[in-house]
Amino acid sequence: MDCIFCKIIAGEIPSTKVYEDDKVYAFKDINPMAPVHILVIPKEHICCANKIDETNSHYVAAIFEAIPKIAKEAGLEGGYRIISNCGPDADQTVLHLHFHILGGKKLPSKLV
Ligand code: AMP
Ligand code: ZN
Repeated sequence: MDCIFCKIIAGEIPSTKVYEDDKVYAFKDINPMAPVHILVIPKEHICCANKIDETNSHYVAAIFEAIPKIAKEAGLEGGYRIISNCGPDADQTVLHLHFHILGGKKLPSKLV
């Protein structure tokens, strides 16, 4: 499958790993939009939030169990924002489910 994030999980494309367990991989975004910008992804290919169902939602649960650990390790005591873009209207550019963790500064209060 020609998926850049699957290749990152497989180690075929380099990444700056910040967390890993049996279901979750997290790494620094290559084009950071905030002082801390981490992507958290499932180790199974799920294209987007639209494809989360009862067969794979345990990956999403594992991601949200990992996020507090990742945030603490990243020094995000002041808080952070979690974003997942789904589909063309949200400008999703990589079709492997991912959650952006953004922080390290006071973020703008409006998204749109
Ligand atoms: P989205 O627009 O929500 O699909 O987000 C995709 C994100 O993946 C963007 O923030 C990109 O900067 C990031 N990205 C794309 N390729 C890589 C890569 N090889 N390593 C790290 N981050 C990447
Ligand atoms: Zn993938």
